[in-house]
Parts: sequence; structure tokens; C-alpha cells
Amino acid sequence: GEHRLSDFEKIKVLGHGNGGIVHQVRHRRTGSVYALKTLTADDSISRRQASREIEILRMCDSPTVVRFHGSIPTPSGDVAILLEYMDAGSLASLLTARGGRPFPEAALAAIAHQVLLGLSYLHSHQIVHRDIKPGNLLVSAEGEIKIADFGVSKILRRSLDPCVSYVGTCAYMSPERFDPDRYGGNYDAYAADVWSLGLTVLELHLGHFPLLPPGQRPDWATLMCAICFGEPPELPETASDNFRDFIGRCLQKESSKRWSVAQLLAHPFIAGRNQADSDDSFRDILSPSLQQQAAEES
Ligand code: ATP
Ligand code: MG
Repeated sequence: GEHRLSDFEKIKVLGHGNGGIVHQVRHRRTGSVYALKTLTADDSISRRQASREIEILRMCDSPTVVRFHGSIPTPSGDVAILLEYMDAGSLASLLTARGGRPFPEAALAAIAHQVLLGLSYLHSHQIVHRDIKPGNLLVSAEGEIKIADFGVSKILRRSLDPCVSYVGTCAYMSPERFDPDRYGGNYDAYAADVWSLGLTVLELHLGHFPLLPPGQRPDWATLMCAICFGEPPELPETASDNFRDFIGRCLQKESSKRWSVAQLLAHPFIAGRNQADSDDSFRDILSPSLQQQAAEES
């Protein structure tokens, strides 16, 4: 049904980024809790981005993608979107809550599996996300991981769309987004999401962004050099062979050599994992931040 802004009360700020600000809100009549993302739509580019984000959220109907509950115009002419509230935050906030302590391999297999299922859903609907990173992967207390933030995503109407404009967080951008001729950017636009997934999983294992020394603030030129001219980052020797191979298949600089989502779902790191151990390991990561949240709320 139709919603009005006055139907909701703001509880707290959940996050903000380039796209806008995200609040936790409560529906006054029903008491249901949602996330409300207010998108600044003050120029034609951001208006177009906002409507693409809404169009994609509206198309998606999957447990692997954050649920969309409608859009609401704001008095200032911006647009707010009502989303399912993900009560355990993002993978970025979980890493911060651990003080940067690396995620164990078993947990990362469970995480990668869920994100791959989400990418498989999106890619089968001709959607390239283009901004896969820890802050855009949201987590529920039940241990579900959902893909969020379609602010720079693209719907490919043609099968071979080059899809190479400079949008998204530069840090997670694949080599062919910078230099399509050299790294096969016209080959497969979906492969860009696989690179970002590999970098995301590697970051969660290292505890810091893999392409820069810990603590260094990324700037565009440094990143472009690291991504295009450097060797792709790797796991340390201490990681298992399966895990190292999995990351290696994602972080192929040449996009045509990168494995597809379907291939990665069958990789031994994912398909051969001990599911029960892997899920338990991920749940261990969730529990401290859920306890902290419960303490804040009481
Ligand atoms: P950025 O520019 O940093 O990518 P953005 O402005 O595009 O961000 P989002 O990524 O959608 O916005 O949301 C920013 C942050 O708000 C997320 O990283 C997350 O911490 C929080 N957040 C967003 N949506 C939800 C949600 N549905 N439930 C819980 N938290 C959310
Ligand atoms: Mg984001």
C-alpha cells in the first residue's frame, strides 16, 4: 500500500554513504521495524540513480536480496525507500566489531556461498551489482546475508554491454572496469562482481583492505595502479589450498579467465565445505555484535 513519511518514527541512524542516509524506523501503527534509505535526488544524475535503484529493488524477489517495501516521497523532493531491516548490520560492521580480527575460513565459506547465491540470482535477471563490498552485504540475526545498495547497479538489456562507466567504489573495481581493452571488459560484464566478491572475502580474512597497507586512505590513482599494474592480491601460505585456489579464481585480472558464479558455486571451497561447521563458525562471528545490540536496546 501507499506509505507516508509521517507513518514512521525514526529510531536511529544505521549508516550513510554516497547514496544518502539510512535510518532505522518504526511504523507507528503496526510497530514493525524497517530501514529507511533517503536518497538525495538534487540533480539529474542522482535522480536517475535513485530511480534505477528502486527499479532493481522492485524487480528482485529473493531471500538473497534485501526486501523492498515501497518508496515514499519526502517534503524536500528527495525519495526515501523502505527496506527490510537487517538486524546484524553489514559484513563491514561485523569486521569492525571484531576489531579487524580475521574471519575464519569456515565462516568465509558460508558467507561466500550466500553471496554467490545472491549474485547468481541477480545475474540470471541481467543485473550487474557493480558495488559488491563488505558494507553492501547485510546480515540478519538468523545468519542470512543479503545483497543491498543498488545505487550504481546496471540492468543489461543487451547481452554484451560493455558497462564501463566510472561508478561504484573505486577500491573494489576490477581491472577491466579501468582498462577494458587490456583486461577483456567487453567479454562479460558479470565478471566484475566476481572480482569484487574475491576482494571482499580476502579483506574479511586479512582484516584490512587487501590492495593497500593497513590504515592507508585509498585515493583513486593509487588504487588504479595497484589494481591494473600490480599482481592480484593473494592469501598467505597459511590458508588452505582450496581457499587460496578459490580466491585465485575470483581475482584473475583478465576477466575472461575469471570463474563465473556457477563455476564458483561448484568449487571445492564452497561445495566441499562441511556445512554444519561452516554455519556454526559464521554464527560465532554474529553473536558478539548481537549481544552488544541487545545491551544497547535494554
Ligand atoms: P555507500 O555509498 O557507503 O555504499 P549508500 O549511501 O549507498 O552507501 P547503503 O550501502 O545502502 O547506502 O547503506 C549504508 C549503510 O547503512 C550500510 O552499510 C548499512 O550499514 C546500513 N544499512 C543500509 N540498509 C540497511 C538495512 N536494510 N538494514 C540495516 N542496515 C542497513
Ligand atoms: Mg553502500
